[in-house]
Amino acid sequence: METPGNLFCVAAPSGTGKSSLVKALLELDSRLAVSVSHTTRRPRGQEVDGREYWFIEEPAFRAKIDHGDFFEWAEVHGHLYGTSRKAIEELLNRGQDVVLEIDWQGALQIKTLFAHAVLIFILPPGWGELSQRLNRRGEDPADVIAHRLHNARTEVSQARHFDFVIINSLFETALFDLKTVVHSQRLKYAAQLRNRSQVFAALGLV
Ligand code: 5GP
Repeated sequence: METPGNLFCVAAPSGTGKSSLVKALLELDSRLAVSVSHTTRRPRGQEVDGREYWFIEEPAFRAKIDHGDFFEWAEVHGHLYGTSRKAIEELLNRGQDVVLEIDWQGALQIKTLFAHAVLIFILPPGWGELSQRLNRRGEDPADVIAHRLHNARTEVSQARHFDFVIINSLFETALFDLKTVVHSQRLKYAAQLRNRSQVFAALGLV
């Protein structure tokens, strides 16, 4: 699939700071849009339906899979998560750059459909730090945290398949790294050609 917009997929184990980094990036970069995923997990804390996620029941999620409504979907930590095909294709075809906060399975599915998607993996600085961050967040019960830490071992082993790796040791440094990746991608010849085709045509380059 070729679209004028760029697609960025950001994956990381829970507690790595991925959501905060993506949120800060979106505040700084008006050319980036985010797609709200569907999930079968229950809302946490202050989460609002349609803002963090579309919260739906499993039969409704499975019906969407059958209708081909998802661009990608995966089971993560015992719940189903998926990206709406329609929403994302509309944004990308309009020339909007899109960032997806998804797990590694979803990111690798997207790369097979969408070769120019940029896959970014955020790593924690260490296991001790990740455990502390998950506990400090205070959002999940101890058994859920233990499950997420266990899964994190498998997740980080997938970082080798990603285009970029950012280590979130210091938030500001990691944010700078993320902005740099987004900016560099936009300047690639192929990305400029897709996004600024009129300039290329005017210069006789197509
Ligand atoms: P959480 O329940 O903590 O919000 O998310 C759990 C994991 O599911 C995170 O790694 C998150 O990025 C991932 N996730 C969220 N939305 C999607 C999605 O649409 N597709 C996939 N594959 N993973 C998702």
